[in-house]
Amino acid sequence: MPRLAELAVTPLQPFEARVAGLRSPRGKIGLEVRLSGRITVACQRCLQGLDLALQPRAGFELEHSEAQADAAGLDEDEVWDAVMGSDRFDLIALCEDELLLAIPYAPMHEACEPVGATEAGDRASPFAALEKLKRG
Ligand SMILES: [Zn+2]
Repeated sequence: MPRLAELAVTPLQPFEARVAGLRSPRGKIGLEVRLSGRITVACQRCLQGLDLALQPRAGFELEHSEAQADAAGLDEDEVWDAVMGSDRFDLIALCEDELLLAIPYAPMHEACEPVGATEAGDRASPFAALEKLKRG
């Protein structure tokens, strides 16, 4: 899962995946995917490692063509999605998509200091430097 590995700041650990073939709530042939595992990403505030538990769950109706998938009109249901199958599709990529979606947009520790906060506080203000020049 290269896209997931790119976000991780430590080597990617295996995820557990349970995939079941079943009928969707609308009676179509589908798959239910349940994933679970952990990933360490960079905190967007302090840039240190942040350990996240990911447990996405998703359902997919299998359609042979885009037209069929469009007609499915699955928008109201957030959990069920349509995938274009023809005869084959990439299950690993599908799982990777779900894991990527489960990562917050800007992951952060509950409490941490922004990187460089103390340096910025110690640094003299540019206006102080200007004042110095004027006096000089
Ligand atoms: Zn942090």
